[in-house]
Amino acid sequence: MRHDVLIIGGSYAGMAAALQLLRARRTVLVIDAGQRRNRFASHSHGFLGQDGADPAQLARHARSQLAAYPTLTWIEESAARAEGARDGFSVTCANGVRHEGRRLLFATGVSDTLPEIEGMAERWGKHVFHCPYCHGYELDRGRIGVIATGPMSMHQALLLPEWGEVTFFVNGAIDIGAEDRAALTARGVTLEETPITRLENGADIRLEDGRLLTFAGLFTATRTEPSAPLAEDLGCALEETPLGRQIRTDAAKETTIPGAFACGDAARSPHSVSLAVGDGAWAGAQLHRSLVF
Ligand code: FAD
Ligand code: MG
Repeated sequence: MRHDVLIIGGSYAGMAAALQLLRARRTVLVIDAGQRRNRFASHSHGFLGQDGADPAQLARHARSQLAAYPTLTWIEESAARAEGARDGFSVTCANGVRHEGRRLLFATGVSDTLPEIEGMAERWGKHVFHCPYCHGYELDRGRIGVIATGPMSMHQALLLPEWGEVTFFVNGAIDIGAEDRAALTARGVTLEETPITRLENGADIRLEDGRLLTFAGLFTATRTEPSAPLAEDLGCALEETPLGRQIRTDAAKETTIPGAFACGDAARSPHSVSLAVGDGAWAGAQLHRSLVF
């Protein structure tokens, strides 16, 4: 069977696109590996009407609503390869099964590269965050540590005083010039240049000189990359953003390969559930139009 649209990634962006297409009675195959980016967090904030919701519950609820539409097929699999061109795309899954569709949508999200610091990975989404709008409020204006990774970190350090008292850990990741120092001072940020040994307890930082500094929460700017190389392998152009790399799309969310679209974190920045849902809804309508006209 040739589906109207093959959607790789069945999280917020992919499901929002699917919803529009299903409501237009189009056949949609969603291939989803179930690895949402926010799977490390127990609460999702800032999505209107769902503030503080469990992100897994949010996704389950959306999926149960999609399942009511008869033209949806959903498979829990990892897509290994995407090939073809407009009106004749195919996606081969890790289990070797090949699926065909007239259009293709990458809603595959991004993966985060965390700084290599002992204790960081297990605290990601619990005590260490990247988005102050998502997780800043809950820190109750407490002490916040910002751990530098690159150029975006200066921006993070200057923004976060809105949410609490900030210490900025350079940790050998960036050069801090005189202008930066002045800007940090003006925002009341404490600069800490002693390297980090590890994270301890909840959000505490052990420094190389033995000091242990205590925080309500930590922030770090991760580098993001498309979580799958599928679009790149198909020939879609990627582009650099301040956060990392993403799939390039035009205003209709079509990639540089005609008939192949992309939405959500994989194809826009900055990133949030609201923005992924909006981007997906738009991509779904644009995919539908491309099938009609
Ligand atoms: P994702 O949700 O990442 O979903 C991508 C989907 O594609 C996944 O299901 C994945 O398995 C699938 N996929 C990828 N490759 C393949 C493949 N080859 N084959 C099949 N399936 C594939 N945002 C907020 O608005 N509020 C918050 O509170 C918030 N908290 C966050 C906390 C953390 C720790 C992190 C990391 C992010 C947080 N975000 C939050 C951001 C939010 O998670 C993303 O913006 C959102 O998940 C993007 O949705 P998406 O559908 O584009 O991608
Ligand atoms: Mg998605």
